[in-house]
Amino acid sequence: MTSDHPAVTRRLLLRTAVVIGTLATVRGLLSLGDAAPPPGSGPQTRGRPPAGAPGSAPPDGYRPRPLDGETSRSGPGASPPHADVACTVPAGAGRIALTFDDGPDPRHTPEILEVLRRHGTPATFFVVGQSAVAFPDLLRSIADEGHAVGNHTWTHPQLTTLPPGRVRAELGRTGALIEEVLGTAPRLARAPYGDWDQASLDICDDLGMSAVGWSVDSRDWTRPGPESIADTVLDELRPGAIVLSHDGGGNRVETARALDRYLPRLLDGGFRPVRITP
Ligand SMILES: [Zn+2]
Repeated sequence: MTSDHPAVTRRLLLRTAVVIGTLATVRGLLSLGDAAPPPGSGPQTRGRPPAGAPGSAPPDGYRPRPLDGETSRSGPGASPPHADVACTVPAGAGRIALTFDDGPDPRHTPEILEVLRRHGTPATFFVVGQSAVAFPDLLRSIADEGHAVGNHTWTHPQLTTLPPGRVRAELGRTGALIEEVLGTAPRLARAPYGDWDQASLDICDDLGMSAVGWSVDSRDWTRPGPESIADTVLDELRPGAIVLSHDGGGNRVETARALDRYLPRLLDGGFRPVRITP
Protein backbone atom coordinates (compact mmCIF):
# COMPACT_ATOMS: atom_id res chain seq x y z
CA MET A 1 0.00 0.00 0.00
CA THR A 2 2.17 2.73 -1.28
CA SER A 3 -0.45 5.30 -0.35
CA ASP A 4 0.17 4.50 3.32
CA HIS A 5 3.83 5.27 3.20
CA PRO A 6 3.57 9.05 3.46
CA ALA A 7 1.23 8.73 6.44
CA VAL A 8 3.49 6.19 8.13
CA THR A 9 6.46 8.39 7.45
CA ARG A 10 4.64 11.36 8.90
CA ARG A 11 3.69 9.38 11.99
CA LEU A 12 7.27 8.21 12.44
CA LEU A 13 8.58 11.72 12.01
CA LEU A 14 6.01 13.01 14.46
CA ARG A 15 6.87 10.31 16.99
CA THR A 16 10.58 11.03 16.58
CA ALA A 17 9.93 14.73 17.04
CA VAL A 18 7.95 14.05 20.22
CA VAL A 19 10.74 11.88 21.61
CA ILE A 20 13.36 14.48 20.76
CA GLY A 21 11.17 17.20 22.25
CA THR A 22 10.69 15.19 25.43
CA LEU A 23 14.40 14.53 25.73
CA ALA A 24 15.13 18.20 25.20
CA THR A 25 12.65 19.12 27.90
CA VAL A 26 14.10 16.60 30.33
CA ARG A 27 17.61 17.75 29.53
CA GLY A 28 16.47 21.34 30.09
CA LEU A 29 14.97 20.45 33.45
CA LEU A 30 18.02 18.47 34.47
CA SER A 31 20.26 21.35 33.55
CA LEU A 32 18.39 23.42 36.14
CA GLY A 33 19.58 20.83 38.69
CA ASP A 34 21.26 21.81 41.91
CA ALA A 35 22.41 25.38 41.66
CA ALA A 36 20.01 28.17 40.95
CA PRO A 37 19.46 28.67 37.26
CA PRO A 38 20.46 32.10 36.07
CA PRO A 39 18.06 32.54 33.14
CA GLY A 40 20.87 33.65 30.90
CA SER A 41 22.69 30.39 31.49
CA GLY A 42 19.84 28.33 30.09
CA PRO A 43 20.17 25.97 27.18
CA GLN A 44 20.04 28.80 24.68
CA THR A 45 23.31 30.30 25.87
CA ARG A 46 25.08 27.42 27.55
CA GLY A 47 28.56 26.92 26.25
CA ARG A 48 28.87 30.18 24.41
CA PRO A 49 29.86 33.15 26.50
CA PRO A 50 28.23 36.40 25.42
CA ALA A 51 30.20 39.01 23.56
CA GLY A 52 32.43 40.93 25.89
CA ALA A 53 32.48 38.21 28.54
CA PRO A 54 35.75 36.83 29.79
CA GLY A 55 36.89 33.59 28.20
CA SER A 56 35.46 31.51 30.98
CA ALA A 57 32.12 32.84 32.09
CA PRO A 58 31.71 33.52 35.80
CA PRO A 59 29.28 31.25 37.64
CA ASP A 60 26.65 33.93 37.67
CA GLY A 61 25.81 37.36 36.45
CA TYR A 62 26.53 36.68 32.81
CA ARG A 63 23.89 37.31 30.24
CA PRO A 64 23.56 38.00 26.60
CA ARG A 65 23.38 41.71 26.04
CA PRO A 66 21.44 43.91 26.37
CA LEU A 67 21.24 43.57 30.11
CA ASP A 68 18.20 44.47 32.14
CA GLY A 69 18.11 48.19 32.60
CA GLU A 70 19.69 49.15 29.32
CA THR A 71 17.80 51.49 27.12
CA SER A 72 15.28 49.65 25.03
CA ARG A 73 12.83 50.56 22.35
CA SER A 74 9.91 50.55 24.79
CA GLY A 75 11.43 51.01 28.25
CA PRO A 76 11.89 54.25 30.16
CA GLY A 77 14.86 55.17 27.98
CA ALA A 78 12.81 54.92 24.82
CA SER A 79 11.70 58.07 23.14
CA PRO A 80 8.81 58.33 23.41
CA PRO A 81 7.98 55.56 25.89
CA HIS A 82 5.41 53.14 24.54
CA ALA A 83 1.95 54.11 25.74
CA ASP A 84 1.00 50.47 26.33
CA VAL A 85 3.81 49.89 28.85
CA ALA A 86 3.10 51.08 32.41
CA CYS A 87 6.26 52.62 33.84
CA THR A 88 4.59 54.16 36.92
CA VAL A 89 1.75 53.47 39.33
CA PRO A 90 -0.84 56.07 40.40
CA ALA A 91 1.22 58.49 42.45
CA GLY A 92 -1.24 59.48 45.18
CA ALA A 93 -0.51 58.87 48.87
CA GLY A 94 3.20 58.30 48.23
CA ARG A 95 2.54 55.12 46.30
CA ILE A 96 5.50 53.40 44.68
CA ALA A 97 6.09 49.83 43.52
CA LEU A 98 9.12 47.63 44.18
CA THR A 99 9.69 44.94 41.57
CA PHE A 100 12.07 41.99 41.44
CA ASP A 101 12.89 40.17 38.21
CA ASP A 102 14.52 36.93 37.04
CA GLY A 103 13.72 34.69 40.04
CA PRO A 104 12.72 32.71 41.85
CA ASP A 105 16.21 31.84 43.05
CA PRO A 106 16.78 29.88 46.27
CA ARG A 107 19.96 31.85 46.96
CA HIS A 108 18.30 35.26 46.99
CA THR A 109 14.49 35.21 46.85
CA PRO A 110 14.04 34.00 50.47
CA GLU A 111 16.29 36.77 51.82
CA ILE A 112 14.45 39.43 49.84
CA LEU A 113 11.13 38.01 51.03
CA GLU A 114 12.42 38.16 54.60
CA VAL A 115 13.34 41.85 54.34
CA LEU A 116 9.97 42.68 52.77
CA ARG A 117 8.17 40.66 55.47
CA ARG A 118 10.05 42.43 58.27
CA HIS A 119 8.85 45.77 56.96
CA GLY A 120 5.34 44.61 56.05
CA THR A 121 5.96 45.66 52.47
CA PRO A 122 4.29 44.22 49.36
CA ALA A 123 6.15 43.94 46.06
CA THR A 124 5.79 42.47 42.59
CA PHE A 125 7.95 39.59 41.33
CA PHE A 126 8.35 38.99 37.59
CA VAL A 127 9.36 35.35 37.45
CA VAL A 128 11.14 33.39 34.73
CA GLY A 129 9.28 30.19 33.88
CA GLN A 130 12.33 27.93 33.73
CA SER A 131 13.25 29.03 37.26
CA ALA A 132 9.70 28.85 38.59
CA VAL A 133 9.24 25.30 37.34
CA ALA A 134 12.39 24.30 39.23
CA PHE A 135 11.36 26.05 42.44
CA PRO A 136 7.55 25.99 42.65
CA ASP A 137 7.63 26.21 46.47
CA LEU A 138 9.44 29.53 46.20
CA LEU A 139 6.84 30.72 43.71
CA ARG A 140 4.13 29.75 46.23
CA SER A 141 5.98 31.57 49.01
CA ILE A 142 6.04 34.77 46.98
CA ALA A 143 2.28 34.64 46.44
CA ASP A 144 1.48 33.39 49.95
CA GLU A 145 3.29 36.36 51.45
CA GLY A 146 1.00 38.71 49.57
CA HIS A 147 3.19 39.76 46.67
CA ALA A 148 2.02 40.02 43.09
CA VAL A 149 3.47 37.58 40.56
CA GLY A 150 4.06 38.63 36.97
CA ASN A 151 5.27 36.85 33.84
CA HIS A 152 8.88 37.41 32.71
CA THR A 153 8.91 34.77 29.93
CA TRP A 154 10.18 31.19 30.06
CA THR A 155 13.84 31.55 29.01
CA HIS A 156 14.42 35.32 29.25
CA PRO A 157 14.91 36.03 25.55
CA GLN A 158 14.78 39.41 23.86
CA LEU A 159 11.22 39.22 22.59
CA THR A 160 11.74 41.71 19.77
CA THR A 161 14.13 39.28 18.08
CA LEU A 162 11.65 36.38 18.06
CA PRO A 163 8.90 35.42 15.62
CA PRO A 164 5.37 35.85 17.02
CA GLY A 165 4.94 32.13 17.68
CA ARG A 166 7.99 32.06 19.95
CA VAL A 167 6.86 35.18 21.80
CA ARG A 168 3.47 33.59 22.41
CA ALA A 169 5.14 30.36 23.61
CA GLU A 170 7.50 32.20 25.99
CA LEU A 171 4.68 34.15 27.62
CA GLY A 172 2.00 31.48 27.31
CA ARG A 173 4.04 28.65 28.82
CA THR A 174 5.07 30.79 31.79
CA GLY A 175 1.52 32.00 32.31
CA ALA A 176 0.23 28.43 32.28
CA LEU A 177 2.83 27.34 34.82
CA ILE A 178 2.01 30.22 37.18
CA GLU A 179 -1.68 29.38 36.89
CA GLU A 180 -0.98 25.70 37.55
CA VAL A 181 1.10 26.42 40.67
CA LEU A 182 -0.84 29.36 42.11
CA GLY A 183 -4.31 28.72 40.74
CA THR A 184 -4.39 32.18 39.20
CA ALA A 185 -3.09 33.28 35.84
CA PRO A 186 -0.72 36.28 35.89
CA ARG A 187 -2.23 39.60 34.84
CA LEU A 188 1.11 41.38 34.47
CA ALA A 189 4.11 40.80 32.22
CA ARG A 190 7.50 42.40 31.83
CA ALA A 191 9.63 41.78 28.75
CA PRO A 192 13.24 40.84 29.41
CA TYR A 193 15.38 43.99 29.04
CA GLY A 194 12.12 45.95 28.97
CA ASP A 195 12.17 45.38 25.23
CA TRP A 196 8.67 45.24 23.79
CA ASP A 197 7.50 45.93 20.28
CA GLN A 198 3.97 46.24 18.99
CA ALA A 199 3.77 42.56 18.02
CA SER A 200 4.85 41.32 21.46
CA LEU A 201 2.59 43.85 23.19
CA ASP A 202 -0.36 42.61 21.14
CA ILE A 203 0.42 39.02 22.17
CA CYS A 204 0.77 40.07 25.81
CA ASP A 205 -2.63 41.76 25.63
CA ASP A 206 -4.14 38.78 23.86
CA LEU A 207 -2.94 36.53 26.70
CA GLY A 208 -4.73 38.74 29.21
CA MET A 209 -1.73 40.54 30.67
CA SER A 210 -0.74 44.18 31.04
CA ALA A 211 2.81 45.20 30.12
CA VAL A 212 4.87 46.70 32.92
CA GLY A 213 8.12 48.64 32.69
CA TRP A 214 9.89 50.71 35.34
CA SER A 215 10.88 54.29 36.05
CA VAL A 216 13.80 53.70 38.45
CA ASP A 217 16.54 51.22 37.58
CA SER A 218 18.32 50.33 40.82
CA ARG A 219 21.20 49.13 38.64
CA ASP A 220 21.69 46.27 41.07
CA TRP A 221 22.67 44.15 38.06
CA THR A 222 25.94 46.13 37.81
CA ARG A 223 26.76 45.07 41.39
CA PRO A 224 28.09 48.47 42.51
CA GLY A 225 27.66 47.66 46.23
CA PRO A 226 24.59 47.80 48.48
CA GLU A 227 25.20 51.43 49.47
CA SER A 228 25.32 52.56 45.87
CA ILE A 229 22.15 50.64 44.98
CA ALA A 230 20.36 52.14 47.98
CA ASP A 231 21.55 55.65 47.06
CA THR A 232 20.34 55.22 43.48
CA VAL A 233 16.88 54.14 44.60
CA LEU A 234 16.52 56.88 47.23
CA ASP A 235 17.88 59.60 44.93
CA GLU A 236 15.62 58.72 42.00
CA LEU A 237 12.47 57.77 43.88
CA ARG A 238 9.39 59.86 43.15
CA PRO A 239 5.73 59.20 43.98
CA GLY A 240 4.42 56.68 41.45
CA ALA A 241 7.83 55.19 40.71
CA ILE A 242 8.26 51.56 39.71
CA VAL A 243 11.67 50.37 40.92
CA LEU A 244 13.50 47.63 39.01
CA SER A 245 15.65 45.15 40.99
CA HIS A 246 16.50 41.47 40.64
CA ASP A 247 16.12 38.43 42.87
CA GLY A 248 17.60 36.04 40.30
CA GLY A 249 19.69 35.87 37.15
CA GLY A 250 23.01 36.12 38.94
CA ASN A 251 24.55 36.95 42.29
CA ARG A 252 21.98 39.23 43.98
CA VAL A 253 23.46 39.39 47.48
CA GLU A 254 23.84 43.15 47.08
CA THR A 255 20.19 43.53 46.10
CA ALA A 256 18.91 42.09 49.38
CA ARG A 257 21.39 44.12 51.45
CA ALA A 258 20.50 47.29 49.57
CA LEU A 259 16.80 46.64 50.12
CA ASP A 260 17.44 46.34 53.84
CA ARG A 261 19.07 49.79 53.75
CA TYR A 262 16.68 51.75 51.56
CA LEU A 263 13.34 50.21 52.50
CA PRO A 264 13.12 51.59 56.07
CA ARG A 265 14.31 54.96 54.83
CA LEU A 266 11.74 55.27 52.07
CA LEU A 267 9.02 54.18 54.48
CA ASP A 268 10.18 56.84 56.93
CA GLY A 269 10.08 59.30 54.04
CA GLY A 270 6.37 58.70 53.55
CA PHE A 271 6.50 56.39 50.53
CA ARG A 272 4.03 53.53 50.50
CA PRO A 273 5.02 50.49 48.43
CA VAL A 274 2.09 48.76 46.73
CA ARG A 275 1.67 45.72 44.55
CA ILE A 276 1.22 46.52 40.89
CA THR A 277 -2.30 45.84 39.70
CA PRO A 278 -3.34 45.55 36.05
ZN1 LIG B 1 14.96 40.09 33.43
